[in-house]
Amino acid sequence: MKISQYFTQQKWQKLLQAGEQKQTPYLVIDLAYIKEKYAEMISLFPKAKIHYAMKASPAVEVVSLLADLGSNFDCASIYELDRVLGCGVEPERISYGNTIKKPAHVQYAYEKGIRLYATDSKADLKNIAQYAPGSKIFVRILVQGSDTAEWPLSRKFGCHPDMAVDLLVQAQKLGLEPYGISFHVGSQQKDVAAWDDALAKVKYMFDWMKYEEDIKLKMINLGGGFPTNYLSEVNPIKIYAQEIHRYLQEDYDEDEMPDIILEPGRSLVGGSGVLVSEVVLISRKSRTDLTRWVYLDVGLFGGLIETLGEAIKYPIYTPKMETENEQGTVILAGPTCDSTDIMYENAGYKLPQNLEVGDKVYWLTTGAYTNSYSSVEFNGFPPLTVIYTDTDKE
Ligand SMILES: *Cc1c(COP(=O)(O)O)cnc(C)c1O
Repeated sequence: MKISQYFTQQKWQKLLQAGEQKQTPYLVIDLAYIKEKYAEMISLFPKAKIHYAMKASPAVEVVSLLADLGSNFDCASIYELDRVLGCGVEPERISYGNTIKKPAHVQYAYEKGIRLYATDSKADLKNIAQYAPGSKIFVRILVQGSDTAEWPLSRKFGCHPDMAVDLLVQAQKLGLEPYGISFHVGSQQKDVAAWDDALAKVKYMFDWMKYEEDIKLKMINLGGGFPTNYLSEVNPIKIYAQEIHRYLQEDYDEDEMPDIILEPGRSLVGGSGVLVSEVVLISRKSRTDLTRWVYLDVGLFGGLIETLGEAIKYPIYTPKMETENEQGTVILAGPTCDSTDIMYENAGYKLPQNLEVGDKVYWLTTGAYTNSYSSVEFNGFPPLTVIYTDTDKE
């Protein structure tokens, strides 16, 4: 494991300095990284609207940075909505992307000026028609991709394309504007072709709506799913952009190209974070046990929930890796009294043989889905401390 794969020496030093006086565990977020990733995204998708999926990292620091850069936002609750409005973002730049919402929350969002809603069911559509009259609707469809996404989104959201067509027709009858179709191919999606399969379904629906229902849809929301650099190899976002543009150009003539919305979360913020932890205890379960149990002061309840099922494999670093050649297999576990609180047992992580209690262990690429998932007080442990810095500034 080489830290230089992830950070220049200078940036790494600045990140370490940002948290120097703090007790572990804490998360350092580099805003310079998010700026860079956002710039990359708009240069690769110049015609698309970026709606940042706030849940990946919802702090004011991140939201206001992206707001200043011109991003739009997708929120999943009225609480995220309040946050983003509080950062001065106009309601025209915000979508309500959660298909599961209370009528009162639809009404609240409407009163705040939100006019763009996702749906995937009749009941929700009716609520939107009643409490957010005249709004634009996009229907989320079920797509494949769960076997190639490291954090799949299963069948909880989306509906069959045939049902989606019915909902869009119904939307018009209810006085809403049937605007488009959305999907999410699963988070940390390693297979670029997942977008191809989804877009083929969308094209079929666009044609169906146009020729059978005389409704011209205008927008495709390609969701999130773009990857970040964990241990497993992924294509650069540039490849995703090239392929997605190719799929779109095959399906639509230039003059009838739909509006495109993207909802990146992980790919924008994942690489911005370093979670700094400390070794609490090292033990073996028998005298001849080859594997060390390394217990850290952070675990699944302190921000590392995406290690559940060993799904997301974060790169980890400890300074002794620079000098100690002997590495041994470890099981990595958190500090709480819940036996679920084991990050990696089968993934084959190795750490230096001379690792000691008190040594720091750095979790790289922990900028997404960490602080927003950290529990409030399980076993009395406080929520994860987060420090925001900008490694491009002095
Ligand atoms: C979580 C979510 C996203 C972001 O997904 P990433 O894989 O983090 O990019 C985008 N859209 C919706 C509707 C989501 O729920």
